[in-house]
Amino acid sequence: MPGSNSCRKIAVVGRGTAGALAAASVSRLHPDKDHELHHIYDSRIPVIGVGEGSWPSLVQQLHRLSGLPHEKVQQRLNATRKYGVQFEGWGRRKSEFIHHFTPQAVSYAYHLSADVMGDLLSEGTRARHIDARVLDITRVDGGAQVEFEDLPPERYDLVFDARGFPRRLDPEEHIEISFIPTNTAVIRRCPSIIEEPPDGPVLKHTYTRAIARPHGWVFVIPLTAHTSYGYIFNRDVSSLEEVEKDFDELLAQDGVAEFEKRAVLRFPNFVHRRIYDGAVARIGNAGGFMEPLEATAIRLAEMQVGMILQMRFNRPAEYHENDVPVVNRFLINDTLTCGLFVGWHYSCGSRYDSPFWRHARDRAWPSYRSATDPAAVGCAALSKFDEMIGLINAPVIDQSDWDRRCGFPLTSFAQMSQGLGA
Ligand SMILES: Cc1cc2nc3c(=O)[nH]c(=O)nc-3n(C[C@H](O)[C@H](O)[C@H](O)COP(=O)(O)OP(=O)(O)OC[C@H]3O[C@@H](n4cnc5c(N)ncnc54)[C@H](O)[C@@H]3O)c2cc1C
Repeated sequence: MPGSNSCRKIAVVGRGTAGALAAASVSRLHPDKDHELHHIYDSRIPVIGVGEGSWPSLVQQLHRLSGLPHEKVQQRLNATRKYGVQFEGWGRRKSEFIHHFTPQAVSYAYHLSADVMGDLLSEGTRARHIDARVLDITRVDGGAQVEFEDLPPERYDLVFDARGFPRRLDPEEHIEISFIPTNTAVIRRCPSIIEEPPDGPVLKHTYTRAIARPHGWVFVIPLTAHTSYGYIFNRDVSSLEEVEKDFDELLAQDGVAEFEKRAVLRFPNFVHRRIYDGAVARIGNAGGFMEPLEATAIRLAEMQVGMILQMRFNRPAEYHENDVPVVNRFLINDTLTCGLFVGWHYSCGSRYDSPFWRHARDRAWPSYRSATDPAAVGCAALSKFDEMIGLINAPVIDQSDWDRRCGFPLTSFAQMSQGLGA
């Protein structure tokens, strides 16, 4: 393969979902079986361990990377088949509607136990495992150097930095997705509502519920091992006590008698300005993140890892320097277009006229144009988004446009527009 000689020694730092995906992908896709892969992580720093909704691309990806039949993968992940997201109380119509994957009732993703996905991916990964704290990752001539806490530094041709969220956002390094109005999640684990057949995977069609609530919204993800509930809100608008109280009310309405408190997680909505600089690839929560309304995080990590490895393995090394800005811009654009789609969900409010929903609809969302101004973000995400909105509002959509995408397919834009009354 043209580029693989310049990419023989690779490190993946982090073993959350993003790191596990990157290590498995290098192991399986590297054209040179003698490549060297170091999988580095600090076992004292826990992985996030939520991330239980996904997109249909993951079904094929896990089958390919694990080498296991689909049914086995599904059972190993305590998974159910997710056919879309059921929105409850969102938008001007304030009613229920479903955002289906397309083709509807055919294409499905997984609801999966995030904490076991890493183990599944690691089984097929051939790597040297290094349990150590990484202090820094810096570019050096033709590659990158990893500095460790208690080990000598090591040089690599390519390093995937999957160390999770940045400690704080720095406008020099990160583009903030400020028009998404949430920044905190309360996670609770409740008993499973899915009955698993004794000898095969669950075939029943399931949907992630996204329920509008006064302080934000709640996801409900049905797995065979448990049901995962997460209240997504803005800690600058609502207090944790208010949210916990409303969460209790929702669980009572749902008839859930017991639950386990799992975590309160703060998250940034952002994308790194240099996801890929030619030697270091920032992936997963280190490269960008947005709240889980459309379960975008694993899909973004898949795209980052897939695109960078494709370019490095299949393109001749002499093209590499010119490829770097193109790949970086593509990945930033992909994240921002997803961010615009997710932020747009708030544009019509919900059945609640509360401080959170007024903040989301009247203050956060209207800043989307300035936040994605091409001069500030260096890509055309905003005009692509405008084109999609133009298309769904057009009296006729030409057949040549049916397959258009802007982070999400046109069918997703059309379904959300109908459902929200946008
Ligand atoms: C509330 C919430 C809900 C979510 N829901 C979804 C969803 O439905 N669908 C979806 O696709 N995604 C979802 N996500 C995102 C999902 O959690 C991420 O895709 C996933 O957590 C990826 O995380 P990561 O691997 O980038 O980082 P992490 O899980 O944070 O892992 C970081 C890794 O880096 C290691 N590490 C950190 N610092 C160092 C260091 N200095 N030295 C060595 N090792 C280090 C740690 O040991 C760990 O192994 C959600 C996220 C949140 C916050």
